[in-house]
Amino acid sequence: MSQGNHMSIFEDLESTVRTYSRSFPATFHKAAGHRIHDTSGRSWIDFLSGAGALNYGHNPPELIEAVVRYLREGGVITSLDLQTSAKERFLESLQDVVLAPRELDFVVQFTGPTGTNAVEAALKVARLATGRRNVVAFTNGYHGVSLGSLAATGNSEKRAGAGVSLGDTTRIPFDGYLEGFDGLTLLDRMLGDPSSGLDAPAAIIVETVQGEGGVNVASPQWLSRLRALCDRHQALLIVDDIQAGCGRTGSFFSFEQSKIVPDIVCLSKSIGGLGLPLALLLIRREYDVWTPGQHNGTFRGNNLAFVAGREALEVFWRGPELANEIARNASLFDDVLGKIATSYHHRGAASRGRGFFRGLRFADPTFVAAVSRQCFEDGLICETCGPRDEVLKLLPPLTADAAVIGEALTVLGDAVQKIDLSHPIPTATVLEVNRELRRAH
Ligand code: PMP
Repeated sequence: MSQGNHMSIFEDLESTVRTYSRSFPATFHKAAGHRIHDTSGRSWIDFLSGAGALNYGHNPPELIEAVVRYLREGGVITSLDLQTSAKERFLESLQDVVLAPRELDFVVQFTGPTGTNAVEAALKVARLATGRRNVVAFTNGYHGVSLGSLAATGNSEKRAGAGVSLGDTTRIPFDGYLEGFDGLTLLDRMLGDPSSGLDAPAAIIVETVQGEGGVNVASPQWLSRLRALCDRHQALLIVDDIQAGCGRTGSFFSFEQSKIVPDIVCLSKSIGGLGLPLALLLIRREYDVWTPGQHNGTFRGNNLAFVAGREALEVFWRGPELANEIARNASLFDDVLGKIATSYHHRGAASRGRGFFRGLRFADPTFVAAVSRQCFEDGLICETCGPRDEVLKLLPPLTADAAVIGEALTVLGDAVQKIDLSHPIPTATVLEVNRELRRAH
């Protein structure tokens, strides 16, 4: 079938809701490691990485081998929340490789296999455990699109899709949202004032690095103040590590650097190893107040994901090698993205991120869209994020070596240069850059 025929069935038959396929209009067919190929044989470096579901690259051989072996042996495929040998082995590795070495005493809840279902469950159990309704979420936070998660999500277009009111959530500025204004000081003061009008929250939900919201990094100090604030006001701290977890920021959990211990952690995306659907919560034992079946779901027992997820933990996280490699290679991003940001200061460029969770922000969203398109033309897939899609988001596989990163960043740097030559600078950008210059002096 020709590429044209493929595209027309997608355009004819699929809902208008599709997005990535509009930005990256190819029909993908095969993939290995950091490369993805289309039906015509073209290939790209993939820094979209399934929006964080492919942290170990496409089809890592050890994980494929484990899944194929399991299938050949006639392993159970789907199992609700029944006990299976595959789940047993996954839990053992999670305990031995991830939880025990970090002295984390959590119970594990397998939810429905999407990130948003894990967030729904986290918010529900926090409300059950505390008997409170309100939840605090942050500006530019993204937690999914089912109604409970959407109430905690900031994006107005996504929220407009709800069609019902999204309540019981209070929005507070994230770290660095407004220069010279500290959201946590305000929140602390209001929660301590019985007449502030702010209902005591069951939980505060946070991404340590906001993914969809523009690769905004919370500082370790801000996170430890948030932890202390939760303790002071008896609110549970939920870290949504769905995108930032599983090594994306350099350590298995994104909050390790800050040394905080959340009450609930949401994991999904790369916890299934190969990109197979899996989501779970880690819950501090005393907050595991569910009655049996109170939050259920048919697809809580994806055994292929248990097999691949266990293998990923064993191959990539039992020893320190991957974390060491990420730390070494992350400095390449600091160097190159930092240089691009300096060279394109007139475009309001800024480099953001931590580990292999990277963003390159420009003032003008149309410039960013053009750069993303140019990258795609030139062999690199990277998406856009941020409140106005003004940030290029780079999610390389954690297994990408210095050569791959160098190649991708060369494509990116060249694309920025090409678009810079042809794209007008809007007055708004000039004003923004001037404001910044005045602030700096
Ligand atoms: N939380 C975060 C931080 C996410 O990045 C996402 C997905 N981008 C979700 C929740 C929702 O996950 P899903 O799309 O699997 O429902």
